[in-house]
Formats: sequence, structure tokens, C-alpha cells
Amino acid sequence: MKICVLPGDGIGPEIMAEAVKVLEALGLGFEMETALLGGGAVDATGAPYPEATSRLARAADAVLLGAVGGPQWDTLPREQRPERGLLGIRKELGLFANLRPAILYPELANASSLKPEVVAGLDILIVRELTGDIYFGQPRGIETRNGERYGFNTMHYTESEIRRIGRVAFEAARKRNKRLCSVDKMNVLETTQLWRDVMTELAPEYPDVELSHMLVDNAAMQLVRAPKQFDVMVTGNMFGDILSDEASMLTGSIGMLPSASLDENNKGLFEPSHGSAPDIAGKGVANPLATILSAAMMLRYTFNQEEAAARVENAVKKVLAQGLRTGDIHEPGTTRVGTREMGDAVRAAL
Ligand code: NAD
Repeated sequence: MKICVLPGDGIGPEIMAEAVKVLEALGLGFEMETALLGGGAVDATGAPYPEATSRLARAADAVLLGAVGGPQWDTLPREQRPERGLLGIRKELGLFANLRPAILYPELANASSLKPEVVAGLDILIVRELTGDIYFGQPRGIETRNGERYGFNTMHYTESEIRRIGRVAFEAARKRNKRLCSVDKMNVLETTQLWRDVMTELAPEYPDVELSHMLVDNAAMQLVRAPKQFDVMVTGNMFGDILSDEASMLTGSIGMLPSASLDENNKGLFEPSHGSAPDIAGKGVANPLATILSAAMMLRYTFNQEEAAARVENAVKKVLAQGLRTGDIHEPGTTRVGTREMGDAVRAAL
């Protein structure tokens, strides 16, 4: 069980240290090796995704990533920007399935912009296809036609692309409450009619999972009207981009949100949904929970260690119930702690 650990920039090293300590405390014998990615990698080697990191990432079973980027690298040529490192590793590892849970712990219900009763206890998972759709379709561009500028993109999916993301979503639903909602726009777009057809064809292979379909406009509305009706949602790259951000923001606390991107063999890249937070880097105040919860996703999806994953998630619930909060989720009446204290509390709660 080899893990490639990429702390990255900004708060990355601080939050990663806590996640690594939690993994070590589980005593499962992971082999962890650390490498450079992002701005730090540019400074040390001239490249945001150096060859040594690529070798390690390819050889590992999973990659755990902090965050990359910072203002000091924003003026570099595009090829050397830290974000290029991220795109590089995602592409090289063939990560086509993006899993983003949106969980709102009852203790944090006030952090949401929605009424607490609408969101308290929310626990949904958005499965987004990551390597196809209109974001990658050819032809694309901006041209001049008939004396005016003309912009165009191409939406397409093959049935095998839809089937493989469908399988990830059905399997994920199996590990949860066994309800899957597939989101499309079949009333207007043929590509998504095919999406719906293929999802429907897959359903008999998963008789224990209840499949439903929803149009994307309605899904966007239902997410803010009654989000707790959903368990797992699956959708294409573009709709997923928008819906996963919408869903995650229902929780209101960016420091709490993990994510996973998987390849065909469930090898994955696991990272918090937030960035490198340069404004608080080095101060010891960042919330490490999104990274710790990303490690829990790694246990579940790559290593099939459901029990260990649940132990970590329950430990996080316990520290929240104890009233411990980093600055980003702090409210009057709770105890403000730093990054390290929060990590230590999670380990103690294990
Ligand atoms: P950000 O997510 O880094 O920060 C947004 C706000 O949330 C900031 O106020 C920050 O302090 C706060 N925040 C984020 N994570 C937190 C945590 N764990 N605990 C407490 N507070 C937290 O987004 P940004 O400011 O737009 O971007 C900063 C840098 O991060 C940029 O260079 C950007 O390119 C990069 N970035 C990287 C990733 C990634 O590595 N996947 C994702 C997004 C942005």
C-alpha cells in the first residue's frame, strides 16, 4: 500500500502533516513517500510536475495532495505555473472520475447560507466525469465567419465513456444509501439522451441501487430547495463542474470538503477542494479536516478499507461534537484551535 504524498504550497505542508499523522495512527502499514508539486517544485527544479514526482506518482497506489499555487508564481510563463503541475498529474494518471462529497455536519449547520433545517445532516456525493464532454470536444475555437466572430465547442460522449463513469457511480451508491440520480439535459441535447440511455442500460447490473433521472436545470433547483433528497448524483463534465460547486457550497465551509479523482482501477488522487490559502499559510491556523477526510476517501476508494475510512470520519465528527473549531468554522461558544491541535484531536478520537 504505497502512497505518494504531495504537500504542495501555502498551507499544503501544514494540513498534510496532520493527515499523514492520522494515517500513521491507523497502524495499517502504509508506505508513504513525499515529493514536490507546484510552486515549490518550480523553485527547486524549474518544472511544476518534475519527472521524479511523476515516477513516484505512477508507482504508487494512491496520491494524497495538499494544494498548489501562490501569488509569487502567478507571473511565471503558463508552462511553469503551479496549476500546470495539477493538470499534468491528473492527465498522466488518467483520472476520469471525480467524486465530491458535500457533507454538512449538524454542528456546522449555521455555516451554510441556507436555513439549518434544509441542510443539517446533508450527505451527498457528486460523481463528475472528468476527461470528456464539451470541455475536451473538437472542433472548438473562435473564428470569423460571414464578417463576425463565431465561437463554437463540441459536446460528445461515447457509450464506453458513459458506462465507465456510470459504473463508478453505481459502485459508490452501493457503498452508501443505494440511490443514484443521473443528471442530463435529454430534452435538448442528444449527447445526454445517450447518457440517459446508457445509465438505464446499466441499472439491471445493480439491482440493489435505485436509479432515477433528473434534468440539470431541475437538479440545480432541487439542490438548493431540498438537497437532502439526494444520495449519489452522476453527471457529465460540464454539468458536474457546476453542480459539484453548488453542492459543496451548501455546506458553507471550504476547509471541510474532500475530493477524489479515480482511474479505471480505483487508483486515485485525493485532495481537499480548497486551494493553498496563501493568506493564512505558515500561521498554523488552517483547517486540516478536508485533507484528513480526503485520506479517508483514499482508504475507502483505493484501498477498500471501509472500516478504517469510517473510523477517520467518525473521529472528525467526534472532534466537532467536542466543540473544537479552526478559525474558518469558528462560532461563539466553540473552542478555537490551530491546525496541529485539530490534527492531534482527530488522532486522539481514533
Ligand atoms: P483558496 O481555497 O486557497 O482560499 C480561499 C479562502 O478560503 C481564503 O480566505 C483561505 O484562507 C480560505 N481557506 C482555504 N482553505 C482553508 C483551510 N483549509 N482552512 C482555513 N481556511 C481556508 O482559494 P484562492 O485564494 O482562490 O487561491 C489561492 C491559491 O490556491 C491560488 O494560487 C490558486 O491558484 C490555488 N488553488 C489551488 C487549488 C488546488 O491546489 N487544487 C485549488 C484552488 C486554488
